[in-house]
Amino acid sequence: MANGITAQRWKALLDKVRKEQPDLYQPWFASLQAGTLAGGTLTVDARDSEKAYYLDSSCRRAFAEAAQAILGRLVAVEFVDPTAGTDAQPGLTTPARELPPDEPIKLSPTYVFENFVVGPGNRLAHAASIAVAENPGMSYNPLFIHGSVGLGKTHLLQAICHGVLAHKPDARIYYFSCDSFINHFITALAQNAVHAFRSRCRHVDLLVIDDVHFLTGEREHTQEEFFHTFNTLYQAQKQIVLSSDCPPSEIPDLQDRLVSRFNWGLVARIDAPSYETRVAITRRKARQRGLDLPEEVCSFIAAKVQSNIREIEGAITRVQMQAQVEGTDPSLELARAALDGPPEAAPDREVSVQQIMDAVMVRFNVRLADLQSKKRSRSIAFPRQICMYLARKLTRHSLGEIGGYFGGRDHTTVLHACRTIEEAIANDARLEATIGQLAEGCRNNGAT
Ligand code: ADP
Ligand code: MG
Repeated sequence: MANGITAQRWKALLDKVRKEQPDLYQPWFASLQAGTLAGGTLTVDARDSEKAYYLDSSCRRAFAEAAQAILGRLVAVEFVDPTAGTDAQPGLTTPARELPPDEPIKLSPTYVFENFVVGPGNRLAHAASIAVAENPGMSYNPLFIHGSVGLGKTHLLQAICHGVLAHKPDARIYYFSCDSFINHFITALAQNAVHAFRSRCRHVDLLVIDDVHFLTGEREHTQEEFFHTFNTLYQAQKQIVLSSDCPPSEIPDLQDRLVSRFNWGLVARIDAPSYETRVAITRRKARQRGLDLPEEVCSFIAAKVQSNIREIEGAITRVQMQAQVEGTDPSLELARAALDGPPEAAPDREVSVQQIMDAVMVRFNVRLADLQSKKRSRSIAFPRQICMYLARKLTRHSLGEIGGYFGGRDHTTVLHACRTIEEAIANDARLEATIGQLAEGCRNNGAT
């Protein structure tokens, strides 16, 4: 038998599965073929996607245990789908429909490696990203980067895309936020265009999905789709890069098999930047904007804003605006005035709805127009509901007035939003913390 396992052992292995797991065993197992045995993994040619699906979802363990018994050592088993990439998959055999043409991949031109400041908190994630960009599919697969908000995950993910395109301009890249993946899939389902969706995201050289923690609580078939997309690409040795705000095992309600797959490659955490890194980042960001910040101002900003680089950018903007208003160069004194705020900006001043929107827009990466639109996709409706909830908690506006800020919605919608978020908070400590931070941020900024 091919590459490392004899025909005799393979037969013994199948016999063992049949004996130990009669419920799982299927007559067609006899036609399966063992592939390679390398690096502690035995690959099995699953013949077609439907069989691969069955084997992978139900029989992985049975085969691994049998392999272990026959070969006398720990062996993982991989079922290889030879039709991978042809989109054959059970359950969802819809007539193929076309999707609208692909939008060109949207990358920020500034999210490149050259603009990324490396420090102790992100060294591993950065090094792994470079390795992946230079050798997609060959170094760490998947690469899973996690860290809290504003620490550079999206920057690194996009830098990988830029890097791959620099080496191979015609590389096919599927780069999306997890929310977009979910929305596209759900739309494709509704439009009977699942085949087109699959062929779009599975015939790629690089799959990059940002913020996979949004898979939390997604319905079974969405995680299922994600799982198969992952498998297809992984088996074809295509690079997969994922980001999340927590490690795979801490994403609530994520199927175990996804957790385990996300852990297959390299999981790299980004920690909050050190003081030195923050100074370097402040310097770099100011230079990128053509702003000449004296060293002492960079140090002041770095000392003042400790947790999150997006906030460092906000601080630079405030200093820049203050300098413009005063028509002077940014000095330490001016930075103090801009960032410490006037003394009367006490925490007990009322927060404005605008401030809440600003904070939520940054945290959830949505636009004002979206918050005020009629769009009901989760990625927009959820932040909008959080805005309404915070507006109710932190301002004295009536339900109807709050609705007015969000595209003229009526008071029942606002009430519903408040209840939804209260319920969500009760079940999700992380969300509670996020909303707590948003509220605190708004309170501390005070209304202007
Ligand atoms: P996340 O996706 O983790 O929430 P982002 O990648 O959106 O964070 O980063 C927020 C901002 O901080 C971006 O403008 C990004 O360019 C910047 N940033 C984060 N880390 C670094 C870094 N190490 N060097 C330079 N800029 C950084
Ligand atoms: Mg991000």
